[in-house]
Amino acid sequence: MRIDIVSIFPEYFAPLGVSLIGKARERGILDVCLHQLRDWTDDVHRTVDDTPYGGGPGMVMKPEPWGEALDDIITSGAATGQDQPRLIVPTPSGRPFTQQLAVELAAEPWLVFACGRYEGIDSRVMAEYATRLRVDEVSIGDYVLAGGEVAVLVMIEAIGRLLPGVLGNADSVTDDSFAPGAMHNLVEGPVYTKPPEWRGHRVPDVLLSGHHGKIARWRRDQALRRTHANRPDLLAALDPATLDKHDRAL
Ligand code: SAM
Repeated sequence: MRIDIVSIFPEYFAPLGVSLIGKARERGILDVCLHQLRDWTDDVHRTVDDTPYGGGPGMVMKPEPWGEALDDIITSGAATGQDQPRLIVPTPSGRPFTQQLAVELAAEPWLVFACGRYEGIDSRVMAEYATRLRVDEVSIGDYVLAGGEVAVLVMIEAIGRLLPGVLGNADSVTDDSFAPGAMHNLVEGPVYTKPPEWRGHRVPDVLLSGHHGKIARWRRDQALRRTHANRPDLLAALDPATLDKHDRAL
């Protein structure tokens, strides 16, 4: 997968050189290209923002540098035989970033992330590229960050770990919280490792039993209980047809 990121703070992305994502890049699974938006300005101050039409506090990112940057990136990809990318614009007003969306984006060959700052990017940029590309405005949660860089790091980590060959054990993702399939709309229950007892806390006996059926049942019960306690919104959205007799008795 190719990922282009446009930002006025490309140095924010140093973490993409470490751990799973860093290894995926070394192994050629992920190709990440960082771009400084100011390289597409033509004034001495390398200006990327201006005052908002209609008044109000803060500044808005100007459309011209974004247009120049995105045009060049799209053209460079076309020159190497890439199809059109999907453009992802982080914003608190976007559709929620979920595991389902991460799975969908992990299947794309090429993503371009446009990191906003200040009050965001002039809306005409998204309108313009929506005439040519798939454009998604995406929020990572109901809070406001100072810029899109951290949101993009979050999305790339969630997407990157789903790419084939990135995780040692591909089954890990199917057991995760929110994973499509049995864990859809559920969060994972508690996990344990050795030793069997630590500071008086014992690992539940069932996990030491070696009985795979009982362990699977216990894990499902725990997932349902934890979802009920921490995410009743998810439980309410569960399709009743996915619940068995034992689930309903909980
Ligand atoms: N005025 C905007 C609003 O109220 O919706 C907030 C702008 S915020 C200070 C600056 C940038 O941070 C946004 O353009 C976006 O790129 C990023 N950002 C902030 N919160 C975010 C969130 N929850 N999800 C995704 N991106 C976010």
